[in-house]
Amino acid sequence: MEPFKIKTVETIPFTTRAEREAALAESGYNVFSIPARLVTIDLLTDSGTSAMSDQQWAALMVGDESYAGSDNYYRFEETVRRITGYEHVIPTHQGRVAENLLFTTVLKEGDHVPNNIHFDTTQANIEHNGGVAVNCVIDEAYDPIADVPFKGNMDVAKLDKVLADVGRDRIPLVMLTITNNSGGGQPVSLENAREVSQWCRRHSIPFIYDACRFAENAYFNKVRGGADGAISDIVREFFSLADGCTVSAKKDGLVNMGGFVALNNHELATQITNMLILIEGFPTYGGLAGRDLEAMAQGLEEVLDERYLAHRIGQVQQFGQRLTDAGVPLVLPVGGHAVYLDAKRFLPHIPQEQFPAQALTCALYLEGGIRGCEIGGLMFAMHGDWPELELVRLAVPRRVYTRSHLDYVADICAKLYRERDSLRGLRITYEATVLRHFTARLEPVV
Ligand SMILES: *Cc1c(COP(=O)(O)O)cnc(C)c1O
Repeated sequence: MEPFKIKTVETIPFTTRAEREAALAESGYNVFSIPARLVTIDLLTDSGTSAMSDQQWAALMVGDESYAGSDNYYRFEETVRRITGYEHVIPTHQGRVAENLLFTTVLKEGDHVPNNIHFDTTQANIEHNGGVAVNCVIDEAYDPIADVPFKGNMDVAKLDKVLADVGRDRIPLVMLTITNNSGGGQPVSLENAREVSQWCRRHSIPFIYDACRFAENAYFNKVRGGADGAISDIVREFFSLADGCTVSAKKDGLVNMGGFVALNNHELATQITNMLILIEGFPTYGGLAGRDLEAMAQGLEEVLDERYLAHRIGQVQQFGQRLTDAGVPLVLPVGGHAVYLDAKRFLPHIPQEQFPAQALTCALYLEGGIRGCEIGGLMFAMHGDWPELELVRLAVPRRVYTRSHLDYVADICAKLYRERDSLRGLRITYEATVLRHFTARLEPVV
C-alpha cells in the first residue's frame, strides 16, 4: 500500500469522447499539443511531475533568499555530500545544465564519451561540444523480451573497443546512467559499476554517473540481488566507485525543478563553478531559489526511505503485471519508472511507415484521456533510418497516482488490445527539421 496518506488533493479533468476527438484533431494527432486540462491521467513523463511531501512544502517556508551563502545551500551541500560522499556540490536548475557545465569544461572536439545509453540531453550536450556519444550497453538491452535482471549494464568489452579505436587521450570520461532511462529504466548492478570503475582506474579515465534515478537503481540491487543493507549504504557504495555525478533532481530528488553536479576533483569543480556563475548564478544558488534548495535537500532524504521505494517500484511492477496478465505486449522486464507498450506486436497490421506507436498513443488518449509518449519512428526516423522498436512509454509520476488510477489505465490498454484490429495508422502533414516529435502534425490514414 501507499506508505503515505493524502493531505491535499487535486481534481483531475474528465472529458467526453467528443471533446477528446476534437482535441486530437486540433493537436494534429500529437499529444504534446493537447492542453493538460484535457488529460485525465498524464503519463507523459516522470520528470518534474512528483508530488512533494508536507515536509518539502514546509521547507519552502524556510527559504533563505540571501544572494550569497544562503542557509538552504549549506543544508543542500551537507545532504549531497553525505549521500554521495563527493566533496564539491554545484547546484543547477535542471539536469541538462549540469551536463552542459561538465561537457563544456572537459570535452575537446573529436572526443568520445562512452555510456551505457546516453540520455537525449546528454548526447546533445556532447555533440554540441564537438564530441561523439558512444553507447556501450549490453546487447540484451536491445531485445524487448530478454528477461535479464540488470539490463542497463555496461558491456566492458565495448569500452575496450572504444579505447582501441580512439585511444585513451580521446576519452575525457566514462559515464554510466543509473537507471538506464533510454533503455527502459533498466537498472545497473553494483558488480557492473565495480567493473566499470576498475576499467576506468586502470586507464586513468574519470568515471561519472548520470545518477538521476540513483535510489531506484539501489533498490533494484537490493531486491534483484547483488547488494544488501540500508539503501543509503548501497547508494554510497555506488557513488564511492566513481569520481562524480550529474543529476536531474526532477526524478529521484522528488522536486519539480532542480539538479546538481557533485565531484571530488578540486580543479574541475573550480572550472565548473566559474562556468556556473556565467550561465546559472552564484555558486550557492545555481539558478534556484533558496527555498528550492531546501525542498530538494528534503526530497533527496525522503527518496532513500525503503518503504517509499518498495511502493514506487512495486507500483510500476504491478502496473506491468496487470498489462501482462491481459496479454498486452510490453518491454520486459518492467523497469523502474515506466512501462513500455510494444506497438509492433500490439498493432502488427500497421506498417512502421504509418507510425504504429503514435497511433497507439492517440488511441489511448481517445479511449481513456490517457497521455503517453511515443518512442518510435516519429521520434527517431528522421533520415530514413527506422528505429528497431516502436514503443509507447507510460511513465509513472512519483507519489501522484494511486493503484486504482493505474488499474484504470491497464484496463483501457487491455480494451484497446482486444479491439486492436480497428486501429489505423497515421501520416505526417507537417514536420520540423529537428526533434520533430514535439511539434509534428499528423492525420489518420483512411
Ligand atoms: C531527465 C534526465 C536528464 C536531463 O535532466 P533535465 O532535468 O530534464 O534537464 C539526464 N539524464 C537522464 C538519465 C534523465 O532521465
